Amino acid sequence: MQPRDLSDHVAYEAGRGIEEVARELDRDPSTFVKLASNENPHGPSPAATEAIRETASSVSSYPKAAHADLVAAIADRWTVEPKQVWLANGGDGAIDYLHRATLEPGESILVPTPGFAYYGMSARFHHGEISEYPLSTDDDFAQSAEDILEAYDGERIVWLTSPHNPSGSTISLSEIERLAEETTDETLVVVDEAYGEFADRESATALLEGRDGFDARDDVAVLRTFSKAYGLAGIRLGYAVVPEAWADAYTRVNTPFAASELACRAGLAAIDDDEHVDLTVETAREAREYMREAIDAHVWPSEGNFVLADVGDAAAVADAMQRRGVIVRDCSSFGLPECIRITCGTDAETNRAVDTLNEVLADLD
Ligand code: PMP
Repeated sequence: MQPRDLSDHVAYEAGRGIEEVARELDRDPSTFVKLASNENPHGPSPAATEAIRETASSVSSYPKAAHADLVAAIADRWTVEPKQVWLANGGDGAIDYLHRATLEPGESILVPTPGFAYYGMSARFHHGEISEYPLSTDDDFAQSAEDILEAYDGERIVWLTSPHNPSGSTISLSEIERLAEETTDETLVVVDEAYGEFADRESATALLEGRDGFDARDDVAVLRTFSKAYGLAGIRLGYAVVPEAWADAYTRVNTPFAASELACRAGLAAIDDDEHVDLTVETAREAREYMREAIDAHVWPSEGNFVLADVGDAAAVADAMQRRGVIVRDCSSFGLPECIRITCGTDAETNRAVDTLNEVLADLD
């Protein structure tokens, strides 16, 4: 007995951790810094760490109460109904649920290229097809309704990533509104705001609830995660905020107990720790501005907790930086073989990344 034919499916390539890289180079892990996966350099909120400790003794029970409390807290944050919050195992889990609830076999999604690989992978698992709209390096990866509509051909979901991974570009709420208006009733526009806390723009949840002068829409959903600004990437907690009419679909497509008790308790503690999020966002904003100024290569403007730099030969530069103890993301797998993506670290980490990159660029010159 064999698995089904998975030759069309590409495995997700998670960034390598410090331990793995240090072992390969036969070096002390403590001499490395990893700025490759857009993780939070300040770690988890201390309140979340405490909540995880306190929850340890009750994990013999299935998650229930914490799940409802967290959903209520998230709903409160975006002034939506609790039933509009689809809790999931990371943002990735929410992507799966949206595809499960939307796609009939052979139906398509429209995704940005370059872009986050998991949209396409997940759609394939759900027997869907993938179409792409291009974002251009020449145009600072600008995202406009007009360009996306040019590629649009009735797909069931249009995926927007704002801030966009790997560039950090964003799309305005009025452009999202226009896109939702000009696509058919059969299309859901999903705004992936995994990096939303770091952006200067407001959340697209405003379009769902008709905030700030926008009419309330029933064809827009928003994806969020606790992995980035909340520093909880390892706990796997994310969610989608969906239109009211979609509420019932969740109960039919979700994996039982979609998020663990540890994740829910940690999320509940972290969501109220504004101090930790503010510190994280402030650090990232300063770091991205500093990197734009100080790196001796073109760096695109970014509203995420990372920047994209045009370094010529990304594989060679990332490898040379790694040998000097700084792990960054070679963006060849995004179809950008000339670019690396650097996560905003603590001040010391960011400075080290900039100095190391500039040395490598001078050496390779
Ligand atoms: N969307 C985007 C654009 C991402 O970059 C990521 C993480 N790399 C995710 C969603 C999913 O994040 P997570 O599953 O950790 O919540």
